[in-house]
Amino acid sequence: MSALDDNLGKLAGYLARFRDNGIENRIAGQDMGGDGKQFQSISPVDKNVICNVAHGTAADIDRAAQAASDAFADWRDIPATERKKILIRVAEGIEARAEEIALCECWDTGQALRFMSKAALRGAENFRYFADQVVQARDGQHLKSPTLMNVTTRVPIGPVGVITPWNTPFMLSTWKIAPALAAGCTVVHKPAEASPLTARLLVEIAEEAGLPPGVLNTVNGFGEEVGKALCEHPKIKAIAFVGESRTGSLITRQGADTLKRNHLELGGKNPVIVFDDADLDRALDAVIFMIYSINGERCTSSSRLLVQDTIREEFEARLVERVRNIRVGHPLDPATEIGPLVTEEHFSKVTRYFDIAREDGATIAAGGEAVGDEGYFVRPTLFTGANNQMRIAREEIFGPVLTSIPFSSEEEALRIANDTDYGLTGYVWTNDLTRALRFTDRLEAGMIWVNSENVRHLPTPFGGVKSSGIGRDGGDWSFEFYMEQKHIGFATGQHKITKLGAL
Ligand code: NAD
Repeated sequence: MSALDDNLGKLAGYLARFRDNGIENRIAGQDMGGDGKQFQSISPVDKNVICNVAHGTAADIDRAAQAASDAFADWRDIPATERKKILIRVAEGIEARAEEIALCECWDTGQALRFMSKAALRGAENFRYFADQVVQARDGQHLKSPTLMNVTTRVPIGPVGVITPWNTPFMLSTWKIAPALAAGCTVVHKPAEASPLTARLLVEIAEEAGLPPGVLNTVNGFGEEVGKALCEHPKIKAIAFVGESRTGSLITRQGADTLKRNHLELGGKNPVIVFDDADLDRALDAVIFMIYSINGERCTSSSRLLVQDTIREEFEARLVERVRNIRVGHPLDPATEIGPLVTEEHFSKVTRYFDIAREDGATIAAGGEAVGDEGYFVRPTLFTGANNQMRIAREEIFGPVLTSIPFSSEEEALRIANDTDYGLTGYVWTNDLTRALRFTDRLEAGMIWVNSENVRHLPTPFGGVKSSGIGRDGGDWSFEFYMEQKHIGFATGQHKITKLGAL
């Protein structure tokens, strides 16, 4: 039996319960189907229905927010060591069901198993990392003044909303939910409507690990309805959001009346800049990995290649050869490097850019076409002969599509790199140390890697500038978002208090 057949057999077993029972909302430890309406989750691999999903409503959000609010005080006050144990058990539960999570994620999103098998384990790592931070999360500083002992402490902000997108949904959900729970917040999670499967697995695993009912609630449905209701709900104190930049603006607007605190992780059009003094073999590997892995459906993808004109011809020729060799195929085949795009809507968006590139006058040096008609497959695509004013250089395509733009000088590279609405990541390839220092200092991005692809280290800050977002995840930055700083001043003596109205 081939590895693909073996995986398909296992998947059929994992999907049976979804097919038979659908996916309900999970509120206060109970399955709740809302008003009985449902929508369908479709697999991008073969366009077949995976299961029915509860179509959540504003009333479901209200119930979930109430449950999160009711559960908050007990969860906040549970001893930190106890909370830590529960979060470690969640990590263990994820590891125990990593195969199920990975296979369901691939089927739901079209992501290749070679990447998704690690995504489940990275989700577990998120829980382990923040479990380790729980004990000191509330600690603050002692700031003594002449008359007072000033103490700061941190307290969880309250019930929070987590709204996640469909690209690597399991990993991204844990990225938000783990620190929120570690901080002592309770959560209402609204997963993307296009990928509801693994959010259901997460809440099950968390409850089996001993998370009390109501601490994590999941409400499925559409952004304009349940997402909006979550942002507007007065019992929800903050929204951690990952998604498109224009949705980020809506999140801010919708939360205005309730003065919501928002953390926004949004889109990108990230440059990778390759200078002619770089290690070009390694640069080539990294350029390819950062745009064609995970179907190019990653916010940190290097979707604009800025390549020095002295090496452009040779670098692009090598790129074309490699891109044409990338294996597009069934996501559960371990050999597959690119699976289908997540939905019909996204497939239409990405393939439209093939025409846009031609209209703009760019060259399609590789790909530029769909593959078969069974699922939403496209060939990995490279546009050359482009400039930074073209739509293919300005708009986030969010697929396996790279736009190559030449530059001649460091100044020009910097100008092109910064000439974008976005500012999530940047990648710089050079062996000139002082240039790397100079360039990274002026590059407008929240995260920059020099001579490296994106390698995530959990204690480091993750987030963007400009239209790529507001706020940072990772390490203590996550707690800054999910917690409030509280100052308490204790008088150390009989300092003078100004007397009013005294004779
Ligand atoms: P999206 O903005 O369309 O949807 C994201 C989530 O927001 C979904 O759950 C959706 O239902 C919900 N939503 C939509 N409208 C809403 C509203 N009015 N109120 C509340 N919620 C609403 O994004 P997507 O297409 O699912 O995901 C792709 C985008 O996510 C890309 O732009 C990508 O760059 C971005 N992304 C960013 C990061 C990051 O860390 N910066 C990581 C992953 C993805």
